[in-house]
Amino acid sequence: MKNIIFFGPPGAGKGTQAKILSKRINVPHLSTGDILRNKLKENDDLALMLKKIIAEGKLVSDEVLNPIVSDKLINDCKDGFILDGYPRTLDQSIFLKEFLNKKNITLSLIINIELDFKMLQSRITKRSIEENRDDDNMLVLQTRYQEYIKNTKPVSDFYFKNYKDIFYNINGNEEIDKITSKIDEIVKKSWIWANFYIYKLDLSSIFHVFTLILFW
Ligand code: AMP
Repeated sequence: MKNIIFFGPPGAGKGTQAKILSKRINVPHLSTGDILRNKLKENDDLALMLKKIIAEGKLVSDEVLNPIVSDKLINDCKDGFILDGYPRTLDQSIFLKEFLNKKNITLSLIINIELDFKMLQSRITKRSIEENRDDDNMLVLQTRYQEYIKNTKPVSDFYFKNYKDIFYNINGNEEIDKITSKIDEIVKKSWIWANFYIYKLDLSSIFHVFTLILFW
């Protein structure tokens, strides 16, 4: 199982990297931003409400988002997931933890892409031309960044403290290709370790059986 979470401020490039990694390791990319933007196309009351919240750069409520995410995890992510943009609040992280515990799923890797506000501004200006998103302008970016600092940074800090072995900080100022190769290295290293642990477990059980026979 490959269960990965991407953290980072808006515009840090986590979506780009999550997409690349998803193709490389063949694990579904679950971007809550993309899921919500798709919901906007439905043009119902929920879509109207979401459109306003997203355009203002505020966070969509946990009540709306948690069921959407758990539904996707159950139906589309049987062999793992790459979460991008979720969890973004402490409540979402508690919901996710309980969901994963219930399903006996463990996290394999957490990648946190760090970028300062100045760089974010220039990234968002570029993306606003390429992707034509309502929320990619300087005024909304400020709200999104404040939401990130107030709600999401405490979540990634929590994961950093509690999942030290699988948590990696990446400098988002570098070129996309460089970041991709750094993530590749981390992924390779983490799979080697995961397999080493399984291997070690096998060796120790073989050793255990062997000593039992010897002492019989
Ligand atoms: P993103 O594409 O991840 O930058 O998300 C775009 C917008 O979707 C955000 O500014 C929020 O309004 C909303 N959104 C995405 N993910 C979440 C989440 N986990 N919790 C609340 N709102 C979210």
